[in-house]
Amino acid sequence: MKKIVIATKNPGKLREMTKIFEGLPVEIHSLADFGELPDAVEDGLTFEENARIKAIFFRDKIGLACLADDSGLEVDALGGLPGVHSARFAGFHADDDTNNQKLIEELKKIGVENSPADYRCALHFADIDGTEISADGKVDGIIKLIPKGSNGFGYDPYFYMNDSKTMAQLSPEEKDKISHRGAALKKFVSKLKERLP
Ligand code: IMP
Repeated sequence: MKKIVIATKNPGKLREMTKIFEGLPVEIHSLADFGELPDAVEDGLTFEENARIKAIFFRDKIGLACLADDSGLEVDALGGLPGVHSARFAGFHADDDTNNQKLIEELKKIGVENSPADYRCALHFADIDGTEISADGKVDGIIKLIPKGSNGFGYDPYFYMNDSKTMAQLSPEEKDKISHRGAALKKFVSKLKERLP
């Protein structure tokens, strides 16, 4: 059976990305199955470039096909930030809490209580025979200052899909159906299926 490594150290992403492969003739692994691995240097200027950097870096380190995701939040009132800096918005040791604090501080500084925003996800798959597949997804929403819900990860408690409900109030199944990552994964899996025996 074809082995695919989900090349992420983010447990939230890993959970969302593993589920889509259920029922397919592939054996899914995570980076944790391969011991201590260095981080890829994500110095691309776009989500697409960073996803490709990670997929190729881990494929070459591990010697198996790798699927990587690069994703993030783009807030209109902040000129598209945090964007590709979403994971480290609050600095090198940032986590979800400090990133969310920074997001809210930045909006308060400019007197904005809600702003249109989107989540974007770029996926890149790099196989050992040199095959590469990419797919992307996007979901529009609104960032507000009041958090709601405790599901999901990252900026989800502040990402409203409509006036009253945040991404963090969705069950995992509901989030997969509408999320940027869910959309990108669906596109990716249909491209992958064309190549599976
Ligand atoms: P990456 O690991 O460099 O791709 O950074 C992704 C970062 O974007 C995460 O650490 C989160 O801060 C944010 N992000 C991406 N996808 C989501 C999501 O589905 N919900 C909430 N935050 C997300």
